[in-house]
Amino acid sequence: MEIITDSEILATRPAKNVVDPWRPYAYLTEPERTVAGQIEQVATLFLTNRECPFRCLMCDLWKNTLDERVPLGAIPAQIDYALARMPAAQHIKLYNSANFFDPQAIPREDWPAIAGRVRDFRTIIVENHPRLCGSDCLRFRDLIETSLEVALGLETIHSEVLERLNKRMTLHDFDSAVEFLTRNEISVRTFLLLRPPYQTESEGIEWACRGIEYAFDRGVGCVSVIPVRGGNGIMERLAQEGLFQPPSLSALETVLEFGLNQGRGRVFVDLWDLEKFDLCSKCGPLRRGRLQRMNLSQQIEPNVTCDCAINRDN
Ligand code: SF4
Ligand SMILES: [Zn+2]
Repeated sequence: MEIITDSEILATRPAKNVVDPWRPYAYLTEPERTVAGQIEQVATLFLTNRECPFRCLMCDLWKNTLDERVPLGAIPAQIDYALARMPAAQHIKLYNSANFFDPQAIPREDWPAIAGRVRDFRTIIVENHPRLCGSDCLRFRDLIETSLEVALGLETIHSEVLERLNKRMTLHDFDSAVEFLTRNEISVRTFLLLRPPYQTESEGIEWACRGIEYAFDRGVGCVSVIPVRGGNGIMERLAQEGLFQPPSLSALETVLEFGLNQGRGRVFVDLWDLEKFDLCSKCGPLRRGRLQRMNLSQQIEPNVTCDCAINRDN
């Protein structure tokens, strides 16, 4: 089994974007269905910070990161900057394109200032690698005095593909992290990839569905399914070699329908990159609208029918 190394992944990368340590590189507010079944606003801040030390095959989050740790005070300043420009929200995602509990990413010295700025939100959601979940999570949970949710990348439960993704995590690592967090009253959401490299379309669907079941079996409260796209260099090489092809929109529809049918927790599909799908002009916007509504309602709607070939293949 060929494993692509860190240095091969790095060698294929295009240039990073220029980002400012005192500004989040993006921020947005969007509605999301809560665990209690209400539709509430979630502010997502894409914090600028040092690049993640992992080198996952499919990752392009490094594009908006720095090579060095941010100066002290920069992360609280980024939060101030975004919140001053965003509408009110009940929940906040502090996403940092890396691992919140990596001290090289978010300086611990800034935690009290961060906590002071986000304490009034009902939920603080941060992303973290399963192998970096320890007592720091509990310290931060206690500082914020509100609900903490940690988003963990499970990616795939296909062990061999997981190894080849270079995530440096086993399913056992993921299970241990979920068990630790949930035992300590920290909710877990997880990211699952739809059709990572080395999977066909049907395998992609099958393993995403199995991943949803696996995550709920372990106590995850919410699964977010991410259709894998290219754009980071190495994925283009894999595509040329026939080892990667993005999933179709119908695969995403199938997986969401499967997840909602389970009735075991919230299942979302990530629509942030949907414009990259080559969609039919007639049914594409309708299908996107259907997925958006299904994310919010958690109810399956009738399929959009269209006579285009893309509706069957894409
Ligand atoms: S752990 Fe997350 S941020 Fe880091 S390389 Fe992997 S996918 Fe990217
Ligand atoms: Zn169509």
